Amino acid sequence: MADRWDVLIVGAGMAGLPTAIRAAERGARTLVVEAGPVIGGKLPRSAGQISAAGARLQRRRGIDDSAEDHFREIMAINGGTGDPLLIRLSVEEAGATIDWLEDIGCTFGPEMPVITYTHDLYRTRRYFWPVRQGPEILEAFQRRVAALTASGGLTIRTHCEMTAFLGDTRRVTGITVRGAQGEERLSATNVVLAAGGYNADATLAAALTPQVPFYSPPMPISSGKVLRLARDFGCRLDGGAEYLCVGMGVLDDPDDRNSVRMGLKLVPQQRPPWEIWVNSHGRRFTREDHPKANHRRRAIMAQPDLEFFIVFDEGVRQNAPNITAHLADEALRDAFGRHPSYHRAADVAGLARAIGVDASALGEAIAGYNDAVDRGAGDPFGRDSLPRPLTKPPYYAISAVGCGLPSPAGIAIDSSLRALANDGRPIPGLYAAGEIFGYTRVMGAAYEAGMGNGPAITLARVLGERILRW
Ligand SMILES: Cc1cc2nc3c(=O)[nH]c(=O)nc-3n(C[C@H](O)[C@H](O)[C@H](O)COP(=O)(O)OP(=O)(O)OC[C@H]3O[C@@H](n4cnc5c(N)ncnc54)[C@H](O)[C@@H]3O)c2cc1C
Repeated sequence: MADRWDVLIVGAGMAGLPTAIRAAERGARTLVVEAGPVIGGKLPRSAGQISAAGARLQRRRGIDDSAEDHFREIMAINGGTGDPLLIRLSVEEAGATIDWLEDIGCTFGPEMPVITYTHDLYRTRRYFWPVRQGPEILEAFQRRVAALTASGGLTIRTHCEMTAFLGDTRRVTGITVRGAQGEERLSATNVVLAAGGYNADATLAAALTPQVPFYSPPMPISSGKVLRLARDFGCRLDGGAEYLCVGMGVLDDPDDRNSVRMGLKLVPQQRPPWEIWVNSHGRRFTREDHPKANHRRRAIMAQPDLEFFIVFDEGVRQNAPNITAHLADEALRDAFGRHPSYHRAADVAGLARAIGVDASALGEAIAGYNDAVDRGAGDPFGRDSLPRPLTKPPYYAISAVGCGLPSPAGIAIDSSLRALANDGRPIPGLYAAGEIFGYTRVMGAAYEAGMGNGPAITLARVLGERILRW
């Protein structure tokens, strides 16, 4: 084994693997340490969705697009927030990422790229994922990893967890790990932190986004442990102030912020709403069918504790398409009265009691909406989808919250992905790639399609290809 590694990468996920592959291909003696039993990070469960302008595939399909347009649209969607240098680098290199994924064996279906309605619309088709999504990207990486490990250029150690830094903020010289051989010191010219997010660490999440609760689906792989090490070492952590919830879900356990179950169908272009949304005061607060996802998310961010209730009646329950993706009709009906986030009552006053909101406010919210349905227009929030009034008991409510997926905050970096110390200076020998730097850096105070996976792979690839020196 080398005494000193040229490149030592912590985490073998969506970001760590591209850095490792490209650095090893350039001839760097590269080591990846991965805490888990296998490589891949979140890739096996990921949809692998990436936005990219200027890919060969777009040109083959006759789509006229440019990185400049992509950049301008992102900055318009996020209101000029985020780090413009990193966003520019991500989108300028995104097309080459799709080309590279094709070159190493990923296949994109004939319909790709597409326009998505899940997030604010891009003007053209630039949203891609391989036929078999994240697992297919992982298989392509695994083939490259196998070739590079066989030739001796790359070493991967699983069950090997980073436990501390060597050196100080004037120069990082390596890390310590705990693995099969017990505690070990590993020295390296470059250390790249690619250990993912912190969804599973509620205390860290509360410290990084103190202004609002950070709800998330269970995500044990996003342990936040390396972020804690980085913070204690003297790295600057920021980005939480720009957090915007990405999705909306239901808490399986109302006392556990990490128990969100996603799968509510709330994208109006895919399922126009039949229900109304009210806040914890019992009042409506937004146009439920607003076409912009970030507008709906911002409305939820303005509600106390990001909580709201999706309210409907028996007529909607019987006639509307199922509002959940994960519960069949019968299971959804059974959830009311059994699951702590699904409520049913014989009348509006009873429903208000069940969900703890003001009964007259809830009554007014329903009456105002019903008036608009009767008139066929004039909804107080300008909503277009007015399928039927909410008049038939029993009444129902689903407690929902605005939640995050990737971690919004993380290690501050410069445009060469060098980690910054608390005094703002780059720390020699230390880099960060992927979710560990927090997605708001490359998305700003909004969420744009394919800008989680996209920059995770692209910036990591560029880091391995041309930023690292040894
Ligand atoms: C539910 C969900 C859905 C998402 N959907 C999308 C989407 O649709 N589109 C999009 O663009 N983005 C999406 N993202 C974001 C995307 O998944 C992330 O940007 C991406 O996974 C980040 O890759 P990563 O390599 O930084 O982290 P990961 O893939 O999580 O990899 C980190 C690796 O580091 C390892 N590790 C952790 N601690 C240590 C340690 N101490 N020592 C050694 N190894 C360690 C972990 O075991 C893991 O293997 C989603 C995220 C989530 C959570």
